Amino acid sequence: MTITAGAVDVDAARAAATAAIDANADDLVRLSKFIHAHPEVALEEVQSSAACADFLEEHGFAVARGVAGLPTAFAAQAGDGRPRIAYLSEYDALPNLGHGCGHNLIAIAGIGAGIGLAAALPHLGGRGRVDVFGTPAEEAVGGKIIMADAGIFDGVAAALGAHPGTIEAFCPTVPGSGDALACVLMRIAFHGRSSHAAADPHSGINALNAVIEVFNGINALRQHIPADARIHGIITHGGDAPNVVPHFAQAEFFVRAATLPAMERLVEQVRRIAEGAALITGATLDLQMPEQANSDMITNYTMAARLSRHLDGVGMHLPEAKPEPATGSTDWGNVSYVVPSVETSYPILDRVCTWHSQEVVDAADSELGYANTLTVARAMALTGVDLIAEPALLEAVRQEFAAAKTARAA
Ligand SMILES: [Zn+2]
Repeated sequence: MTITAGAVDVDAARAAATAAIDANADDLVRLSKFIHAHPEVALEEVQSSAACADFLEEHGFAVARGVAGLPTAFAAQAGDGRPRIAYLSEYDALPNLGHGCGHNLIAIAGIGAGIGLAAALPHLGGRGRVDVFGTPAEEAVGGKIIMADAGIFDGVAAALGAHPGTIEAFCPTVPGSGDALACVLMRIAFHGRSSHAAADPHSGINALNAVIEVFNGINALRQHIPADARIHGIITHGGDAPNVVPHFAQAEFFVRAATLPAMERLVEQVRRIAEGAALITGATLDLQMPEQANSDMITNYTMAARLSRHLDGVGMHLPEAKPEPATGSTDWGNVSYVVPSVETSYPILDRVCTWHSQEVVDAADSELGYANTLTVARAMALTGVDLIAEPALLEAVRQEFAAAKTARAA
């Protein structure tokens, strides 16, 4: 899409943004319904990602498909000015459930906001570029982690997204709200030696005992870890028969903490526990960390405050944000270390409910769900207009981002 430079007219830009979303509302809902009706799990979102990429192309975006080596990721852009404002879409479903996290709505929240801001660009004096990223596999490996590592978000000035929630959903406008824990998978395997468990136990080396010692060690450590840290695991292989000394056993743990450095300290402690278990039992340790860590989430409160103001302006009055301990992790965290980020939550139900459930599958295909998603898209587009039209706002966002990163590194 070529944008011709003209005068800055913020009111005209705002009107164009919301008008474009309104004009495309039915098509956006149709796209979301298609994704909902064809649930595809992490990295298999072939139809969903193609439908999103096609839609953006039809609306004037230039789309690169299969970015970062992920066949179901895409990067779409409109305009070629600066600053670059990004919206992140997701579209993966949950195994055996479907869209129980409402990612079919996240898809059109990002695309709708992108189409809105693209329509506003001609009124912004030739400034600005809109990026809509299709980020697969949020529920599994974390597509955003791989995309961030590949440099896909480099050069983006600000990234916005929205995640559906219950009636308690809020926009994270105050420090301590909207945090997420850094998280990494530790796969701890031991190789021992088989022998008859009754006739010849002294010839065996018991790999399962090593795994059990890891659990004991972690439980002993637990008293001494930060209150917001989490270490939780399962035994994925514990032997083959009770009368055979297990020659192989394996456990998997998630280690989570408030920041990446805090998580890395815990990882080292768990590593030493595993080494100790190998020493105790004589089994050989094979410790792997097969996936990239989720970073903690650095929410940009300056940007969140502006988004929150626009949410109010378009009629979505959310409960006030309050600080609360983070419990989950998200691949947004890795984006938030590269680009100033905010991911707001918003309601698709008029009540509370258990997430990742059939109730959410139904809400993700409801009139309220679609209506509120398009409302959030309008607010995200209007925030994008401000970030392009007000250099001072973007500068404040940048300064907060730099300070937050410095603070986390300590
Ligand atoms: Zn989700």
